[in-house]
Amino acid sequence: MTLIVDTLTQWMNNFTAKIELNQQLLSDLDTPIGDGDHGFNMNRGMQAVTQKLTEKPASLTAALKQVAMTLISTVGGASGPLYGTAFLEMAKKSDTTNDLGELLEAGLAGLEKRGGAKPGDKTMVDVWAALVPAVKSHDLTEDKITAAVEATKDLVAKKGRASYLGERSKGHVDPGSQSSGYLFEALLETKGLL
Ligand code: ADP
Ligand code: MG
Repeated sequence: MTLIVDTLTQWMNNFTAKIELNQQLLSDLDTPIGDGDHGFNMNRGMQAVTQKLTEKPASLTAALKQVAMTLISTVGGASGPLYGTAFLEMAKKSDTTNDLGELLEAGLAGLEKRGGAKPGDKTMVDVWAALVPAVKSHDLTEDKITAAVEATKDLVAKKGRASYLGERSKGHVDPGSQSSGYLFEALLETKGLL
């Protein structure tokens, strides 16, 4: 449960691989309720993150900051600044702890503050809010991740581009929730972390 530069790097590399593999699917999810760019945005950003982390940052705080700044400057859309803020808040928190659950909790608080979304608004906040407690209580599972992502399908979007559709946003999984699902799956696959 202790995050160090090495496990953060593994986690981000696992996330990049999932994003790369599923970029078309993510952009397809973003087509009916958005503008069809989420997978391409995230892939551009995560390729840059992976590249940046090969420079082997000297501390966890420096590494989290680099992830954050790279996401903010390369992803674009609404999701870039949101993921970026989450990692920036994790970087700040890492001054006082390297407990993964506590870091993710700080990331979630930053995400909610930056975007103004609450659980139930059909954004990536839904997945973070459902899964951060599972990380904290050491029982994150594949099933919980799938359930959290799928639960966004029947919600009406209250924030972001999808909210313009109102009721018509129902029946579609939220793309940012799906990419956040991959972020948590990537954690499960990171050896020696959970
Ligand atoms: P854009 O909507 O600008 O095209 P993306 O397609 O990259 O950006 O990302 C869309 C995702 O961003 C949504 O699926 C949702 O999960 C997330 N999102 C949008 N607005 C917010 C918000 N205010 N708070 C949290 N997440 C949000
Ligand atoms: Mg989009």
